[in-house]
Amino acid sequence: MRNVWLKVACAQCGSVKVLRDHVVLCISMHEQSYAFTCPLCHKVTERSMGPRIFEVMLNTIVFNAPPITELEVHQLAEALAACPDPLAELEA
Ligand SMILES: [Zn+2]
Repeated sequence: MRNVWLKVACAQCGSVKVLRDHVVLCISMHEQSYAFTCPLCHKVTERSMGPRIFEVMLNTIVFNAPPITELEVHQLAEALAACPDPLAELEA
């Protein structure tokens, strides 16, 4: 798989590059943000993002990601089966 680097802003170090796989998108009804662990200072930074950045992040991180494997589907099914109320877990 091709490594894709994203340029992000750490509150402490300024502009740094992180691997796409190390960036997490946080999407709710009201806002979108992304989080990453800085490769230099190892602090977790979460930043909210507007619609334009969200679109770029979505295209880069989600749509260019490799397809979900059968193993991952099984792991998700097992995790859901082991959880009595998955929706309550998401709301927690
Ligand atoms: Zn940093």
